[in-house]
Amino acid sequence: MAPDNTPVRPRMLINGELVGASDGKTFPIYNPATRELSAEVPEASADDTNAAVAAAKAAFPAWSALGPAKRAGYFKKLAALIREHRDELARLDAISMGMPVSTYYYAHMAAAQYDYYSEAWPIVQGQASVNTPGFMTMTLRQPYGVVACIIPWNVPVYFMAAKSAPALITGNTVVLKSSEKAPLAVARIAELVVEVGFPPGVFNIISGHGVPSGQILSRHMDVRALSFTGSSRTGKLIQEEAARTNLKKVVLELGGKSPAIVFEDADLAKTAAKTQFSIQNNSGQVCMANSRIYVQKSIAEKFIEAFKKEFAANARAGNPLDTQTNHGPQADEVQYRNVMMYIEEGKKTGTLAMGGNGKLEDTNGFFVEPTVFVNQPEEARITKEEVFGPVVIINTFETEAEAIAKANDTEFGLYAAVFTRDVSRAMRVAKALESGYVGINCTSPMTGHDLPFGGYKGSGQGREGLLYSMNNFLETKSVIMQIDEE
Ligand code: NAD
Repeated sequence: MAPDNTPVRPRMLINGELVGASDGKTFPIYNPATRELSAEVPEASADDTNAAVAAAKAAFPAWSALGPAKRAGYFKKLAALIREHRDELARLDAISMGMPVSTYYYAHMAAAQYDYYSEAWPIVQGQASVNTPGFMTMTLRQPYGVVACIIPWNVPVYFMAAKSAPALITGNTVVLKSSEKAPLAVARIAELVVEVGFPPGVFNIISGHGVPSGQILSRHMDVRALSFTGSSRTGKLIQEEAARTNLKKVVLELGGKSPAIVFEDADLAKTAAKTQFSIQNNSGQVCMANSRIYVQKSIAEKFIEAFKKEFAANARAGNPLDTQTNHGPQADEVQYRNVMMYIEEGKKTGTLAMGGNGKLEDTNGFFVEPTVFVNQPEEARITKEEVFGPVVIINTFETEAEAIAKANDTEFGLYAAVFTRDVSRAMRVAKALESGYVGINCTSPMTGHDLPFGGYKGSGQGREGLLYSMNNFLETKSVIMQIDEE
């Protein structure tokens, strides 16, 4: 990609106007590959956040009355503009959170969400019955009102679209807060929303940290539903705020510590390649990355060698703007230090089999070597907690029961994978895994377009997905009508 030094001046979208923070406050975003300043970003104040919610509340009656077919017209235009600006959005995510432009398929994924929901709205239906003699009964599906969306930094434009599109098409109005680590591409889409001409207040987009703006949205009495993707720690705080205030509906997509189980009859080469991609992709900063691999003892040595070879050959680290790069830095200094802290601790508790170094001194960027640990105790911190970096633990098992027990011994439950040629075993294990998603002979990021996505246990609450997300933003009203006897 040609170097582009266009200055980036992100703004927020509140009540149809592109604005800075009302108190003029900004926060800096640095390119994690070079540590150069990329932009100063508006920090939404309490007043800004409240103004965005007030605008959304005021816009709700007209927007919900408009009818989905008319609402869909805005979506089509937005999808087309997002596709048109793909390269620009890729650059903005690269210089804020380090995602390589070569792997940037997220603008297309985001556009596809707006396109899909612009056609999918007829699925929203209530039911009617004559099961109560003398009465006609029915259910109506209706929007909540103001919906807040709080998104993480690791795949910003996709989460922006995957939450806002189903919320808006069902007649809700939205206040979306971007992540303080990756606000630039989202702020560019805010400009595209203005270009499309959405009615003022329908779609508000603010930037800032968890506190104050995220916290205010969580406790705001006029926000009736909140969809969150991010860490389990923040998810719990949001749930607490919601419970303490207006019991708003909360959907939580949280962290993971996803296991992949590799049996001795698995296709070794394919399994090594797929499990490697899962933890290398986006430099390991993916909620569903298989960060724990359990391999049957009889093939462990061979598998570990094959995995290391794949990891070394396929992670091409470098500047994310370089089209040859597919392995960017960690998103910022906090993420980098956190990953390095886990690696240093892992060196004490288990055996380092590959990598294990940070590259800050050599590169001036927050790069972490692809890292493999073997023989980590199951109770070690690095086995139990989400590292969110290119760091995998490969442990062994002897029996199917042992593999399942180890895979399930976690508070997370987002994605699990099983590799075997034995169909019955694959289904037995899939059934036993405590996980919202199971891949058989495939692993994350592989997902089916029409399947629900979400976590068991501490990985979340609720499900998202093309056929599921609209439900998250619709109340159900029961209506019973007496029919007069003739
Ligand atoms: P994070 O929890 O630190 O931040 C997520 C968002 O929450 C940001 O916008 C942040 O500003 C906001 N926030 C922070 N504190 C808040 C508070 N007190 N109240 C309200 N909002 C607050 O998470 P992150 O570091 O941005 O993202 C990485 C995490 O997200 C990982 O744990 C990852 O597994 C998870 N994730 C989950 C999924 C999924 O679908 N399950 C997908 C992607 C990422």
